[in-house]
Amino acid sequence: MTRLIFASGNPNKAKEIQSALPEKFSVITMKEAGFLSDIPEPYHTLEENAQHKARTVASALNVNCFSEDTGLETVALGGAPGVRSARYAGEEANDKKNIEKLLLELGNNNLRNARFKTVIVLILDSEEYFFTGICEGKITTSASGSSGFGYDPIFIPDGAEKTFAEMTLEEKNRYSHRKKALAKMIEFLIEKK
Ligand code: IMP
Repeated sequence: MTRLIFASGNPNKAKEIQSALPEKFSVITMKEAGFLSDIPEPYHTLEENAQHKARTVASALNVNCFSEDTGLETVALGGAPGVRSARYAGEEANDKKNIEKLLLELGNNNLRNARFKTVIVLILDSEEYFFTGICEGKITTSASGSSGFGYDPIFIPDGAEKTFAEMTLEEKNRYSHRKKALAKMIEFLIEKK
């Protein structure tokens, strides 16, 4: 069994990642590994934020680890909310407020194209490796479904007819940005052995 330390405090992401991993890999959250603080995401790109999280945990615990940062980019809003997805509705934002703000900003605009982008940074023996996963889709006009997290209730991936929040984890993994980035990291780790 290969144990991977995930430099994130988000239990939804950890659950999703565990469900998408081959059986011989298991995820240990940074909390389980002994890192209890929150890590800020102060940078202007997903790459820098993910790198910052991975570096923070790798150096604090002296371990190999990986992190990820994800953003939702809409065409009609010039790529917003993008790297600011978590705090789109302000510092006190939560999923519901972020969704409300995005639906309001898009209004009746027929251009609903959007994509999720995940950047994973893996730190392995002090080297850094980047893996990206993209999922293209559309923003709905109202929220639907109660699974998942974040913007899942308003995002329908291309090729599907329901939102991520109306899917099981296994269904979401067929399309998801996170799963695509993760698959690249797993392929890399398997080849490296
Ligand atoms: P972060 O990667 O934790 O900074 O997440 C950025 C924002 O995107 C947060 O509001 C998350 O809830 C949201 N988010 C991240 N991944 C997903 C996803 O897979 N589906 C829906 N929303 C997501």
